[in-house]
Amino acid sequence: MFTDTLTQQWHSLDRAQVRELQGRKLHRYLRDCVLPFSAHYQKVFAAAGITAADIRNLDDLAKIPFTSKEDLLPTPEQPRRALEFVLRPDPEVLRKRPSTILRALTRGPARTRDELDREWRPTFMTATTGRSTESVAFLYTQHDIAQLGLGSGRIATMGGRTREDRMLNMFPFAPHLAFWYMFYSGIDRNIFCLSTGGGKVMGTEGNLRAIQKIRPTVLTGMPTFLYHVLSEAVNLGVRAEGIKCILLGGEKVAEGTRRKLAELCAQIGSPDAVVVATYGFTEAKLAWAECPFTPGHTPPGYHLFPDLGIFEVVDPETGKVQPDGVGGELVYTPLEQRGTVVLRYRTGDHIEQGITYEPCPYCGQRMPRLMGRISRVSDFRSMRFQKVKGTIIDFNELEHALDDVRGIGSWQLELRKANNDPLDLDEIYLHVTRASDAPEETLHAAISNMLHSQFEVRPNKIVFQTPEKMRELQKVGVALKEQKVVDNRPKATAAPHQPPPAPKCITEPASR
Ligand SMILES: [Zn+2]
Repeated sequence: MFTDTLTQQWHSLDRAQVRELQGRKLHRYLRDCVLPFSAHYQKVFAAAGITAADIRNLDDLAKIPFTSKEDLLPTPEQPRRALEFVLRPDPEVLRKRPSTILRALTRGPARTRDELDREWRPTFMTATTGRSTESVAFLYTQHDIAQLGLGSGRIATMGGRTREDRMLNMFPFAPHLAFWYMFYSGIDRNIFCLSTGGGKVMGTEGNLRAIQKIRPTVLTGMPTFLYHVLSEAVNLGVRAEGIKCILLGGEKVAEGTRRKLAELCAQIGSPDAVVVATYGFTEAKLAWAECPFTPGHTPPGYHLFPDLGIFEVVDPETGKVQPDGVGGELVYTPLEQRGTVVLRYRTGDHIEQGITYEPCPYCGQRMPRLMGRISRVSDFRSMRFQKVKGTIIDFNELEHALDDVRGIGSWQLELRKANNDPLDLDEIYLHVTRASDAPEETLHAAISNMLHSQFEVRPNKIVFQTPEKMRELQKVGVALKEQKVVDNRPKATAAPHQPPPAPKCITEPASR
């Protein structure tokens, strides 16, 4: 099904064969690319008393210590710590390699030098969104940019896209993976793609105009923003026939969101649009997509690319690798990256039903798949578990539950303090828009009962808002990511007249 040769060799292999090939590739990757040139992993391997020779199969992978987000964050001693993870080849080492000598003999020394430079020199970067922590840069070489196109191109091919398709990329323009992944998808598969930059660059109206002009067959963007654009299209009576696929990224996707987006597409004249979720993260420099499936059926999971990297599912408490089909934290190790490289990276994301190697019930491929819901803990770790009104609330679950309520369109949950007093009681305001003709009282009761029975909380107020007001509340077109949960509780610790902290650069070493 995939057109690139790498995958053609892998997609029919069974579990043992995939793992054996991955183990061999991992050994060579560590031996030839990572350990000779990574300052960070030279130290980590030395401290653990291991070399590339000790890592020959996937069972050996557990000998490598985990890397976590904290390992990449700057410290006062190491203000540019993430650069320790960048592969910096020694030209002398590369020059003496038999593969380089052979290449120079067949293609000439000038071309060989240029090819090696393109393979190893960082020329591009994306960064983590840095909502809870400082943003971390991930560097790419031309080799990595080719992988962006390869991975996103595979998603396009899996969804049945052809060169006749037209894509509208509505991810916000930013140095973030999602925007560039979709940008390179069109480049790699030779598919027309207009990148609008999302709401912040062109506004809802600009994106609607683009839909009318381009008549796209694929819309890609963040679920909340796509919801706003499509609802506005319905309100204005805009017709957009021929949308075949809605490709979502950047946020998790609840079943309810999927259903609502498909319904909106049907209302503007595209009844056959398939809604596909993707999962990706900055550190992998890749994202993966679900196999497209018929609504109402069990989702077949996310197809992985075993030739480009290894996923492990570990018990978040013990760090032990879970058996197939058992949920846990996702851990990723690349097999093809240059630039910034992290090994056994703990994503902080939880996969509900782990990994399966069984053939996909939809497309028949044996490529490993991630099964069940992914909870993006890392995205809002600081917000995930909050004590509100004396009850610990899992906001991850709460977001899924609200997205699933029929009859409401978009929503925003606002945490406040009574009388805006930091020491007073917590209050929950839920702002919603109606997406059906059901009376407000009926919706009010349905939401209130759901929150009470599933989360043991009752909102202080459920406020019905117009779509315009909701766009303002969620900061559509203003913030990079629409805001569905906001904490407006004043902090008791912040003294009201404290001077602002000194700019950070003053305290940092002059060498920076
Ligand atoms: Zn499939």
